[in-house]
Amino acid sequence: MNETKTEKNFHAIHITKDKCIGCVRCLSACPTRAIRVQDGRARIIGQLCIDCAECLRICPRDAIHSHTTSFAALDAFDYKVAIPSTVLYGQFGSSVLPNEILSALRRIGFDEVYDLSSICELNCAATEEYLNDHPRPRPYITSTCPVVVRIIQRRYASLCGQILPIEPPREIAAKILRTILPKSLGLPAERIGIIHITPCPAKIVSINSPASLAKSYLDGAISIRDIFPQVVKALRKSEEDSLMRHLFPETLFSGIGMGWSLSGGEIRGLKSHRAVAVSGIQDTMRVLDQVEGGLLQDIDLLECTVCPDGCVGGPLEVENRFLAKSRILELVAAAGEHAVVDQKDVSRLYHRNFLSFDHPVPPAEARPLDLDPATAIRKAKLRDKIDAGLPQKDCGICGAPDCRTLADDIVRGYARLEDCPFAETAKTKKEKR
Ligand code: SF4
Ligand code: SF4
Repeated sequence: MNETKTEKNFHAIHITKDKCIGCVRCLSACPTRAIRVQDGRARIIGQLCIDCAECLRICPRDAIHSHTTSFAALDAFDYKVAIPSTVLYGQFGSSVLPNEILSALRRIGFDEVYDLSSICELNCAATEEYLNDHPRPRPYITSTCPVVVRIIQRRYASLCGQILPIEPPREIAAKILRTILPKSLGLPAERIGIIHITPCPAKIVSINSPASLAKSYLDGAISIRDIFPQVVKALRKSEEDSLMRHLFPETLFSGIGMGWSLSGGEIRGLKSHRAVAVSGIQDTMRVLDQVEGGLLQDIDLLECTVCPDGCVGGPLEVENRFLAKSRILELVAAAGEHAVVDQKDVSRLYHRNFLSFDHPVPPAEARPLDLDPATAIRKAKLRDKIDAGLPQKDCGICGAPDCRTLADDIVRGYARLEDCPFAETAKTKKEKR
């Protein structure tokens, strides 16, 4: 893997300092105020970053990048398994079928490739059972988007208990394979590499720093953008095999599960519960504010995805998201509404807790102004006083995203009042008088 791994606070988003021109665009894009620009270069405060990639999307200099698993890292395993996000099916235009994409993945080096749509459907059926068994609290919030889980841990700690404690499909699929493959192949589990193919960097974060598992069942995540050229090449090689196009479905794709890559896809299969889907970071935070304020209790399930339109809007995909969305809708229609997963099997796994979290999602460690409570109170008062004296322009010239954050940085010792050119001017005028 080419990512740096730490147990607790792994991050996939990094800045290449030499490419940064200090334009401060990322400052205002970051929803958690995790970026500062100092000496003309941006830096990320790891404790505040949720790996949403909003900064990566907006940077005009390509200075912000994500670390995902490299294809070469697969060499560490004797047997390589791919579990692609269903977003991958929307990347190659309407003439390429999911089975051809799965075959192309086999051709470029994976020993086995698993379609995730049936596991998405399984997750949906298990969610229905969980909601039936647990009438409170409301609403539960799905855990599929790792960025949403991180926002809740950091900004809405009181909602941690409302995260639906069922693992997302990628982890369930990997857990099933970890259970059956070592026995069927006669290989030790660590020789089998199970890799997710992802449209966003947040999945690699959830693999390296899982919020609800002791250890992820996945070994890494390769970005769609990185693997795309090889898949295209492999698809070209099979172009003459036009028969393939008529063999669909060779794998039994689930229309219910295929739609999971679109906003609203996770809740579409629910039969007897009231559910709402929200996408985009700002709308997600607006709705979480409402839930934290005690609203929306008449909703059973809230599906939040921070990428626009759902995972299909992930920053690591290749296809224009509107075209990808349209292709996935075609596939959903082609696969139909019928269930491909047996509800009795789902029930059995659900009641054995096979699909559940290992532990509840914990709130993130707080970032107090000081470890000593009395000093922290004193610093909070000082912060308010400094903030009141700042011009409230929130211009970013100081290198912090807004005046309040600069005041906070000053009392923490990371910035100086002189960093604000307007505060300086006011001070100079006073001195002259
Ligand atoms: S958007 Fe941020 S990282 Fe990119 S060049 Fe501007 S200041 Fe640097
Ligand atoms: S990834 Fe998101 S939270 Fe982290 S620095 Fe970028 S915009 Fe901020």
